Amino acid sequence: MLALTGGRPVIPEGAVAPWPWIRDEDRTAVLGALDRSTPWHWPMAAVEELEAAWADFTGMPYVLAANSGTAALHMAVSAAGIEPGDEVLVPADTFLASASCVLQANAVPVFVDTDIETFNLDPARVEERITDRTRAIVAVDLNGLPAPYDPLREIADRHGLALIEDAAQAHGATYHGRPAGALGTLSAASLNGSKCLSALGEGGLFATRDAEEHRLARRVLMFGEELPGQGRDYNARIMGWNYRIDVLAAAFARSQLGRLPEMSGVRRANGAALTAALAGVPGIRPPVVPDGLTHVYFFYPLLVAPEELGLAEADVPVAAFRDAVERAVNAEGLGIIRWQPRPVPAQTLFQEMRGYGRGCPWTCGHARPGHRYRAEEYPVAEEICRRRLVLGQSFSSLGPPNDEGTMRLFAEVFHKVLVEERDAVVALARGLARDGAYDDQGTS
Ligand SMILES: *Cc1c(COP(=O)(O)O)cnc(C)c1O
Repeated sequence: MLALTGGRPVIPEGAVAPWPWIRDEDRTAVLGALDRSTPWHWPMAAVEELEAAWADFTGMPYVLAANSGTAALHMAVSAAGIEPGDEVLVPADTFLASASCVLQANAVPVFVDTDIETFNLDPARVEERITDRTRAIVAVDLNGLPAPYDPLREIADRHGLALIEDAAQAHGATYHGRPAGALGTLSAASLNGSKCLSALGEGGLFATRDAEEHRLARRVLMFGEELPGQGRDYNARIMGWNYRIDVLAAAFARSQLGRLPEMSGVRRANGAALTAALAGVPGIRPPVVPDGLTHVYFFYPLLVAPEELGLAEADVPVAAFRDAVERAVNAEGLGIIRWQPRPVPAQTLFQEMRGYGRGCPWTCGHARPGHRYRAEEYPVAEEICRRRLVLGQSFSSLGPPNDEGTMRLFAEVFHKVLVEERDAVVALARGLARDGAYDDQGTS
């Protein structure tokens, strides 16, 4: 019997370890930073050590630690020279910050549809969105899988665009042997507690190969000031913010980074084991990994496919089936969520285009007039949002110490829900459909 209706859950309490995985060396690192961190001055040793370690890991010569991935993205967009009214291409399905970083520079995000196999930018759709105002592409390594950088770089080079990598979900992943964080001309990563490289609290990393971009990003990081050698002159050159990272968060992330290669290996193996164990379970489609790429499964995305069970939309809508599966799987003790119920351009910020107020930056005089965010421009992203459920993150982590045994438990849940108890789940979905008790928001 489904746990939802009183059966025994497949996954016992405490069987899945949460993320991040904290060990004694992390505790020692944080306590060490605590002892070294007074008097306050900038930058602190623990921050410089984190920056040096990310530079070493990615091979990017210039790194700045920031207090969030959102801040690091804003620094990257500004460092790329994006100015008011410029257009930046962004995938339609990602986290808000991949697009709002463009608004933070008073520039205009233009969305590009994504690919239903990889969840990443569809290079075939990029070029048709380029105008004479386009200055950059933000490529996102969604779920932990790198975007298609070879075709993207070719397009970026041909049109003279900066290629900004949002590596917030993909630390430790690789694209033909090169590490996430080094796949664009510049990059931003998040160290938020849930991410594959975690600061436990909040944090971010900006990286570039260019000394001038490094200088510009540092101005944004710290009050618009220039920091030549020793001391500050307290003279803001441009609009700047306070994006400095907390020293204890930096020390924790530095310690975790020492284990990132090992942790990424476990994530890859766990993802592959889960995909193998889900083969033959109908009604869900596991993620695919293109040749030459590695996936670190920040999220393990599943697309529901009730068609595979012979269910028609008129009988059981995809959205009702998705919600029934979500409820049943959660009740079995496996955390699964509906991440991003709608594409980014379908969010109110873009639909109403109020921006900073009075429609800025779209109406501030520098932008091309007539920007609108239309659903027909991102049908695949809508389809993904309608069908997607995700495992991973901190609640059903594919990271260590969870192992292939844990993945077998995860797969057992789907066997139970979609094979053994399929009739009960279909009846639940039909009930949700009949009562209109499912979530059809964000879908057109
Ligand atoms: C988490 C995330 C961000 C933002 O990072 P924060 O550290 O939470 O500000 C940006 N882009 C993507 C794709 C993310 O997943």
